[in-house]
Amino acid sequence: MAIFKCEKCGATKEGRCKPKKCTDCGGSDCMIKKEEKASGCGCGCKAKK
Ligand SMILES: [Zn+2]
Repeated sequence: MAIFKCEKCGATKEGRCKPKKCTDCGGSDCMIKKEEKASGCGCGCKAKK
């Protein structure tokens, strides 16, 4: 899973693939990948235990 953020309104969305348009402001091609979400670790840290 990855987190995508809208460049226009700042809304964030979680998903496996890049959203085609922002559901908040309706803008197209404004979703940018923010970060990869580490599997198994909800806090998103990269530390290995
Ligand atoms: Zn937006």
